[in-house]
Amino acid sequence: MTQEVSEVRTEKVVVRHDQATGMQAVIAVDDTTLGPGLGGVRWMPYPDMDAAVAEASRLARGMTLKNALAELPYGGAKAVILSHDDGADRAAVLRAFGRMVADLGGVYIPGVDMGTSIEDLAVIGSVVPDVACNHEDPSPWTALGVYAGIAAAVRHFDHTDLDGHRVVVQGAGHVGSSLALRLADAGAEVLVTDIDPERSERVATSVGGTSVEPEEALAIPCDVLAPCAQARVITATNAPNLGCRIVAGAANDMLSERSCAAELAGMGISYVPDFLLNAGGVIHIHAIRSGWDHRRLGGVVMEIGHRTGEILERAEISGRTPLDIAEEMAADRLGHLASVPL
Ligand code: NAD
Repeated sequence: MTQEVSEVRTEKVVVRHDQATGMQAVIAVDDTTLGPGLGGVRWMPYPDMDAAVAEASRLARGMTLKNALAELPYGGAKAVILSHDDGADRAAVLRAFGRMVADLGGVYIPGVDMGTSIEDLAVIGSVVPDVACNHEDPSPWTALGVYAGIAAAVRHFDHTDLDGHRVVVQGAGHVGSSLALRLADAGAEVLVTDIDPERSERVATSVGGTSVEPEEALAIPCDVLAPCAQARVITATNAPNLGCRIVAGAANDMLSERSCAAELAGMGISYVPDFLLNAGGVIHIHAIRSGWDHRRLGGVVMEIGHRTGEILERAEISGRTPLDIAEEMAADRLGHLASVPL
C-alpha cells in the first residue's frame, strides 16, 4: 500500500507499507531544483509513521541546503525505514524499499545513513539502478570536511591553528572517531564521549585523548563542541549550560529549533551550520559518480574550510547568524530560500 502525502515544505513525501515483507518506510524529497534528491536511508525505531515522516522531512531539508551549498548537482531527500521486528528478512525489506525508490522514477538517489551499511545499499542497488554509497564508506571524508570547518572557525575567532585547543567530540562512531584522530594530529586536546563507554574509551585512548561521560560532555569548558551523534542535540533547555565557544560538528539537524542559533549567538557561542560542515560525505559520493581521484576529492572537501571562514566573516560583518548567511548562500544557488525547519 503506497500513500502520497502532501506536506507544506516538502516537494514529495511518500509512505509505504509493504504487506509481503512488513516493511514500513517513508521517502521525503524536499527539493529537486538542482537535480535528483540525494540523501541517506535511516533505519531505526520510531514511535509511529508520523514521527518518521517528520524526521525524514527535516533531514531532507538539510540535504537540500547541504547539496546546494556544496555546489553539487543534487536536490535534497531522505528516507526512513521504520525499525522492523527481529527475525525479519533484512534483504527482502531492503529490496521492497528498493522497489519503492524505483517507483519514484529517479527523483531519489539513496545513500547510507544511521542503521544502514554499504552492503545494504548494494542490496537496494540490485533493484534500483541509481544508488550511492554501495561501494565505499563516505565517513572519513565527512570527518575531513568537519575538521576543515573546525580549523577555519578557530582561525577566524582566535587567529591560530588548533594546537592546544580543547575539542569535545560527541559520538565516537564512523565520523567522530575519524575526526578525533585528525584533531589530535593537529595538536588539539581531544575529549571523547559516547553512550557506548567501551567505544568512547577505545577511541579516546587511540588518539591520546580523554573519555568523558555523555551526561557531562556538553557542559565541559572547551573551545569547540563537535556533535557527531544524534539529531537535535542542542535545545533551548541545554543551550545555557553549554561549556563551549563554538558548536561545529557532523550531526545532521543538530538544533532542536531554529531559534537555538540566535539564542547561542546571544550567549557568545557560534553555531557553524551542520549542513555546511558535514558535506564531505556527499562530495565523496559525487566524486565517485564523476570519476574524481582522491586528490581532487580532498581539495573540494577542504573547500568547506574556506566556505566556513567566508560565512563566519559575513556573519560578523552583518551582525547576523552563520545559519542565516549559509541559508542565503544556498538560496543564491537554488533561486529561492530554503530554511532549516522551525
Ligand atoms: P555512527 O552511528 O557511526 O556513530 C554515532 C555514534 O554516536 C555511536 O557510536 C553512538 O553510540 C553515539 N551516540 C548516540 N547517541 C549519543 C549520545 N547521546 N551521546 C554520545 N554518543 C552518542 O554515525 P556516524 O556515521 O558517525 O554519523 C554521526 C552523525 O553524523 C549522524 O548524525 C549522521 O547523520 C551525521 N552524518 C554522517 C555522515 C557520514 O558520512 N557518516 C555524513 C553526514 C552527516
